[in-house]
Amino acid sequence: MLTLEQAQAAVAQTVIAVTEQERVPLTGANGRYLARPAAAVVANPGFDNSSMDGYAVNTRTLVERDFMLPVVGESSCGDAPGVLAADSCMRIFTGAPVPKGADAVVIQEDIKIVATGDGDRVQFPHSVQPQQNIRYAGEDFKAGDSFFAVGHRLNPRDIALLSAAGVVQVEVWRRPRVLVLATGNELVSPGEALKPGQIYESNRLATILMLQQLGVDVTDGGTVRDEADDVRAALTRARDYDFTITSGGVSVGDHDLVKKIFAEFGDINFWKVRIKPGKPVAFGRLGEHGHFLGFPGNPVSSLVTFKLFLEPALCAWHHAPYLRTELAAIVESDFTRHAGRTEFLRARVTLDTRGQLHAHILPGQGSHMLGTMQHANALLRVEHDVSEVKRGQTAPVMLLASELPIEEY
Ligand code: AMP
Ligand code: MG
Repeated sequence: MLTLEQAQAAVAQTVIAVTEQERVPLTGANGRYLARPAAAVVANPGFDNSSMDGYAVNTRTLVERDFMLPVVGESSCGDAPGVLAADSCMRIFTGAPVPKGADAVVIQEDIKIVATGDGDRVQFPHSVQPQQNIRYAGEDFKAGDSFFAVGHRLNPRDIALLSAAGVVQVEVWRRPRVLVLATGNELVSPGEALKPGQIYESNRLATILMLQQLGVDVTDGGTVRDEADDVRAALTRARDYDFTITSGGVSVGDHDLVKKIFAEFGDINFWKVRIKPGKPVAFGRLGEHGHFLGFPGNPVSSLVTFKLFLEPALCAWHHAPYLRTELAAIVESDFTRHAGRTEFLRARVTLDTRGQLHAHILPGQGSHMLGTMQHANALLRVEHDVSEVKRGQTAPVMLLASELPIEEY
């Protein structure tokens, strides 16, 4: 049986990366993966401009005129760059072009207006230095500068940068088409009456929603009965998709048909990984460009195998690096078990005011136990050869939430 690392390596090597690209406007680019680095159309700043509200001056003139100058003209945001009149200063505002001839901006808080017989003068402090409060053209980036690598996933901050750089459209990989199916004769949709022996379906919904958050094009394939012909019909549809995700039917029971029938359609790369929960997870290729992931039916197994295999598979498909986000936390509970598999325990992780993470291993770790999820915000990783986790040790945690409760220890 493969270890987690071997299985993840197999996924990374087996996934056929997308080759079709498309152009999208910035407004549609959030969460998309770049197929080509973007290039700045304009520099930032595009022209020398003021970083403060105040007065544009020439520092040499300032010394010659004993730090007293009349105000001639004004430079506001959106004005074309002007010219500083001889022996004078110019009123200027944040973001407005620095006039030709000026080499510094003095903030308005540092000056005094003095009345003279010859009209008002601005009195400047003697500390004015050339270049102060000026944002120079191109000091941030230049036209033609390249941004991001192929496979980078764009976020709103990236898109702000591209927008400032005058980029109109970006070249991104097309989105993967993903089919999600649940299998099981016992499964009923919420809202329907439960007959004896039936349960409400939950994996398919969670998988679809998590895929939507990853920005993929998801198709809900519904629930399929544990009958060979039904599974066959469902997998026949799968040929049209880049990924087919099933839940259930990959264990060793007589009715676990998914893996068996899948063998008629594609090549199983692995079935079973030394992990807990999620051991019976199946992965393979389907047709020329398709991929198959069979998640075990237990709800927690399905969540864990999503994180461990589907997320890296989608990264590989998008030419993106898989960034494993495990952080170190101090364990606040004792835990013993039989060593052998890499285990992911649902945990409640908190942050103290020194920035240290603390992990509480939650009671109720059965892979069917969804109730524990209401308190869980992380998965704590126990290495395959470890049989005991003790309070005070450090362990890696994979966060499921982006915000953590703050608690003092
Ligand atoms: P299986 O992997 O098909 O053997 O299912 C393992 C366990 O998970 C069984 O208790 C199933 O009833 C349950 N199960 C399977 N699929 C789902 C699902 N989509 N939603 C919730 N529970 C499921
Ligand atoms: Mg089943």
